[in-house]
Amino acid sequence: MYIKIFALEALVYRTANAIDLLRHDKVAQGRPYMRSKTEALKDFSIECAIAKVYGSEVQDYIVDEGLQVYGGMGYSTEAPMERLYRSVRISRIFEGTNEINRLLIVKEFLKKGLKGELDLFTPLTACLDWLEKNEGGDYGSSPWSELLTIVAHLKSLTLVVAGVTAQKFLQELEEEQEIVTHIANLLIEIYALESAVLRVRKLKNDPNLEAKAIHMDVLHALAFETSSRMEASVKALMFSFDDPEDAVQIKNALAAYSTVPHRNIKKHKRAVANYFIAETRYTLG
Ligand SMILES: Cc1cc2nc3c(=O)[nH]c(=O)nc-3n(C[C@H](O)[C@H](O)[C@H](O)COP(=O)(O)OP(=O)(O)OC[C@H]3O[C@@H](n4cnc5c(N)ncnc54)[C@H](O)[C@@H]3O)c2cc1C
Repeated sequence: MYIKIFALEALVYRTANAIDLLRHDKVAQGRPYMRSKTEALKDFSIECAIAKVYGSEVQDYIVDEGLQVYGGMGYSTEAPMERLYRSVRISRIFEGTNEINRLLIVKEFLKKGLKGELDLFTPLTACLDWLEKNEGGDYGSSPWSELLTIVAHLKSLTLVVAGVTAQKFLQELEEEQEIVTHIANLLIEIYALESAVLRVRKLKNDPNLEAKAIHMDVLHALAFETSSRMEASVKALMFSFDDPEDAVQIKNALAAYSTVPHRNIKKHKRAVANYFIAETRYTLG
């Protein structure tokens, strides 16, 4: 639960800060305040949609697990979880259902690529070249370089999957909503993981802040779980193609980019659980 909350907070803080900075820049350039705000929000519509989907699904998970922790009492109206359980269910429906937001995330992402607002082509070509040479993974010698490499690999995986799929289906991709949903899942997962990693890097680098050992436990567990979920999404996407030959590049990318160095994830998760049992509340700054 805490690992997901940490990633969600990181994602929301990162997005809100980016919107604020852009609005600030626009106002400084003399644009009216409200127009600057609307334009800044529009520029980050993908990130906002990701925050909505990820946030509502983390909320669902937390309340569902919370009810489970209460056992039978969780199901009773005498305990608080029952009401929370009913209340959070709407979050996946209103403010744009999560299904529609997932479609929007991919549509806007590919549109930005086509319009040249986001350079997808150069890094995609670099990834495909790298896969051709099959250079293998080097995760560096420190836990920190390991995490940064995992993020870079999972971003490359997302790029190859989105790029190859878009090239295969072209205009017909809109009709392939199941496939689009898998791509959306990749974009959502990598944005959350990268946000969490950047958050801890900021804690490490800012002399006024403090990165604790527990932050690394959170990141290692999150990186493993993110890569596992992304692997499942890519497999489901590949098995939505008629001809497996069409998915060869994706298959190679999956093999090269989704493996993570071995770690005892159970130990990292127990460390997180023990930390919060001792703290008795959420205290990760
Ligand atoms: C408590 C509550 C408060 C609300 N508050 C507001 C408010 O303040 N302002 C406001 O404007 N609206 C509000 N709404 C409305 C809410 O935004 C809509 O319920 C929501 O947008 C979904 O629309 P719908 O109910 O018509 O479902 P539909 O659009 O009929 O969708 C039904 C299901 O089909 C799925 N679906 C639809 N199209 C696709 C597709 N192409 N691919 C895959 N799946 C699809 C949807 O994701 C959903 O799961 C509120 C709703 C509730 C219940």
